[in-house]
Amino acid sequence: MNSMNLDRTHDAAVKSWLASANLPHGDFPLQNLPYAIFRRKGYAEEFRAGIALGDQVIDLAALLRERCLNGLAMQAAIACTQPALNEFFAMGPDAWRILRQAIFALFEAPTGNASTMPDTDVLRRCLVPQALVEYSLPARIGDYTDFYTSIDHARNIVKLLRPDAALSPNFQWMPIAYHGRVSSIGTSGQQVRRPLGQRLAAGRSMPDVSACARLDYELELGIFIGVGNPQGEPIPVTHAEQHVFGLCLLNDWSARDIQMWESTPLGPFLAKNFATTISPWIVTMDALAPFRHAWERPADEPQPLAYLDAPANRSEGSIDIHLEVWLESERQRTNDAPATRLSRTSFRHQYWTVAQMVAHHTVGGCNLNSGDLLGSGTISGPTAAEAGALIELTAAGKTPVALGNGEARSFLEDGDTVLMKGWCERPGFTRIGFGENRGEVTPARAVS
Ligand code: CA
Repeated sequence: MNSMNLDRTHDAAVKSWLASANLPHGDFPLQNLPYAIFRRKGYAEEFRAGIALGDQVIDLAALLRERCLNGLAMQAAIACTQPALNEFFAMGPDAWRILRQAIFALFEAPTGNASTMPDTDVLRRCLVPQALVEYSLPARIGDYTDFYTSIDHARNIVKLLRPDAALSPNFQWMPIAYHGRVSSIGTSGQQVRRPLGQRLAAGRSMPDVSACARLDYELELGIFIGVGNPQGEPIPVTHAEQHVFGLCLLNDWSARDIQMWESTPLGPFLAKNFATTISPWIVTMDALAPFRHAWERPADEPQPLAYLDAPANRSEGSIDIHLEVWLESERQRTNDAPATRLSRTSFRHQYWTVAQMVAHHTVGGCNLNSGDLLGSGTISGPTAAEAGALIELTAAGKTPVALGNGEARSFLEDGDTVLMKGWCERPGFTRIGFGENRGEVTPARAVS
């Protein structure tokens, strides 16, 4: 996780022979190469792994058929022909890096030495336009854990919901989390039915069962575990990132009224388990290497305990990932009106790092497996405009946000589409992006 990990695949001077990969504000240049599980829409074919480049998907199974890969890169690509990335994840960082370097070499623009020019006619046969594919979940997710690692989000929530209370004292000592639900995780484009549940209305002594009236999103990053650990053998913070394959965008849909009534004493349950939406593309830790920053803990705040502290985590533990949430109402969509940006922030403000989440998760001996998913927790920055959920942006519904077309939102309404975007940029490096994470709210079922 240091600048020693930069190699030729991070060199901004290298372009691709595929023109759409070189657009200045594109998400998928040659320096990114994120993974998804895809197939062509309308074909009776298997889901398999692909890599995004420009507006295309590189079909790894096709590259194998055309005999474009050999050695460890070929072995890695064979693992990628499965309908989930778990086997490829389990091969570990050397295999991930070798395949990245091999794909980079095949798709980079020739630099004059004709003898090394790739056969672009063959390679073009291995591309599928992104517009013509559909996605599946990138991995068989065995377990999903959702963290709570933004101190700005935690402080905002305390202020809104329990004005007399302080930030929970454990927050500054450990990355707090709960074990979440896998069955309802879907990929971008997911239709999310408004949940029913128990709510205790203000001033009432008895709950009722009704459709959630305070439906919200949470802007998060999903963290895919590449290599697991045996039960009873914690992952040290110094090695934690070698166990992480990459990151995606994650929307932790949240039913605030259900959450308020059910969360004491054991925490979130039905308020969170009806849907979680992730983006199809996983941006690898290799691709994120140029965008690392120092992780700082102010001197007057608790310093991390030894198992959560390491020099590399201090020097480069945080990642500057720009994030935005947009809302497109049904009326905006019908009228072809532009969507509204609700907020923008960066992952670099997070109180705990990815490495610290992994180290803490396993310190008691819990085993992580290839394909496990961790949510970062809502990502809110230090200013009000950087809040990662409507409950913060609207002060629990008291100050609705205007959508710019006469509509306003306290919480989500049926027909609303929530759209998340993420990207990294830094002078001297090529901008890389995460693509989109979209989910649409559909009406609740009638209460029976
Ligand atoms: Ca969450």
